[in-house]
Amino acid sequence: MNEILEVRHGVLSSHLADHILREEDEAARLHALESYEIIDSAPEKSYDDIARLTAYVCAAPVALISFFGNNRQWLKSRYDSGYFSGKALALPLPARLAERMHQQPGRVLQVTDTALDTAFTALLPPAGGVKFRFYAATPIYSPAGDILGALTVLDKRARTLAPEQCQAMETLTRQIMELLEMRRTLIGLSDANAKLGQQNITDALTGIPNRRAYDQKLTEEFSRAKRTGAPLSLLLIDIDNFKSYNDNFGHPAGDTALQSVARVLMSSLRPYDFLARYGGEEFVIILPSTDLTDAIVVAERVRNIVASSEFPHRKLTISIGVARLDVDAGGRALVQAADVGLYRAKAAGRNKVVVGKLNDSSPAGSATP
Ligand code: GH3
Ligand code: MG
Ligand code: MG
Repeated sequence: MNEILEVRHGVLSSHLADHILREEDEAARLHALESYEIIDSAPEKSYDDIARLTAYVCAAPVALISFFGNNRQWLKSRYDSGYFSGKALALPLPARLAERMHQQPGRVLQVTDTALDTAFTALLPPAGGVKFRFYAATPIYSPAGDILGALTVLDKRARTLAPEQCQAMETLTRQIMELLEMRRTLIGLSDANAKLGQQNITDALTGIPNRRAYDQKLTEEFSRAKRTGAPLSLLLIDIDNFKSYNDNFGHPAGDTALQSVARVLMSSLRPYDFLARYGGEEFVIILPSTDLTDAIVVAERVRNIVASSEFPHRKLTISIGVARLDVDAGGRALVQAADVGLYRAKAAGRNKVVVGKLNDSSPAGSATP
C-alpha cells in the first residue's frame, strides 16, 4: 500500500515542479481546487479529527490542514494543543517549499529547524504572532496531480519525525484526499439531482414548465393570495381544432406547432406570469396579483398574438377560459371556473375569451370578440 503511495507521489511531484514554472498550470491547479468547493467551506469534524490525530501521532502541539488558494493559504482545520493558541502563524507560501517536496518524492518534507532555513528566516511573524522551530508537511494532491494543499505539523522546538510518524502523516494525507474525492462526488450528485429536479418540472416537448410545476406554483400563489389578500387569476387555454391539424399535416408537424404555440405564449407574458403545459394541446397561465379585468386584458392580448402569428401549415387560434380566485372556494375551484369559461368559449365558436364562474347557469359569460 505504502509503495503505491510512494510511486504516486513521485509521479505527482513532477507535476508540482511544472506548476512552479508555468503559470497556465497554476490556473489549472486553481480550477481543480475550485471543483472541490473546499476553500471557505464550513468546519467539518472529519477534517478536525484528522488534524487532531496527526498532532497526536507526531507528538506535535499543532497540526493544520490547509489549502493553497490564489496566493493564500486557507486553513480547513487547525488543531492546537495550547502553545500557539489564538496566535497568528506565518507560514511560507507553498511554492517556496514545493520544489523541495519534488526533490524527495513520496516523503514528508521536514524542516528540522526553521531558524536555519531560508524559506522561514525571511518570514516575519504577523503582529501578535509566533514563530515555530519545526515544520513538516505532506502535500495533498488531486488525482490529476495538482497540489491542493498540505497536512502540516509545527513544533516549538527543533526536532525530527520518526519514520513511523512520517508514514502516519502520509496515510492521514491520503485520508484527506479520499475525503476530498467524496466531497467532489457529492457535489456532482447534488448537481445531477438539481438537473433531475429541473427535468421533473419541465415539459419535454415544449421546454416550458409542466403540469407538476403548475401544481406547485398554483399552491404557492394560492397561499400568497390568501395571506396577502392580493387577487389571483388564471387562464386556461386550448388550441382550436388541433385534431384536424394533426390529421392533415401529421403528428410530427403537430408537435412542432405545439412548440411554436408555447414560444408565442411565452413571449406574450409579463415577467411575473407563469405559463405551463397543462396537457395535450392545453396550456395554463397563472396571473399573480391580477384581478379579473386585467386578466381579461392579458387573455385578449394572448389570444390576439396567437391568432396573428404564422405557423408552418396554417393559422392557429386558441380559446381561453378566464377565472379569478375566490379564496374561500380554493385553488381547485379556480381551475374549474376557468374550465367553465373555456367550455363556453368553444361553444361560442372558438378563438374567444370567456370568463367562467362556478354554478353559472347563464347561456354565455362575457365572450369576446
Ligand atoms: P377543440 O377546438 O374543441 O379543442 O378541438 P380539438 O381538435 O383541438 O380538440 P380534441 O380534444 O378533439 O383534439 C385535441 C388534439 O390534440 C388531439 C390530439 O392528437 C392532439 N394532441 C394532444 N397532445 C398532442 C401532442 O403532444 N402532439 C400532437 N402532435 N398532438 C397532440
Ligand atoms: Mg383539448
Ligand atoms: Mg383543442
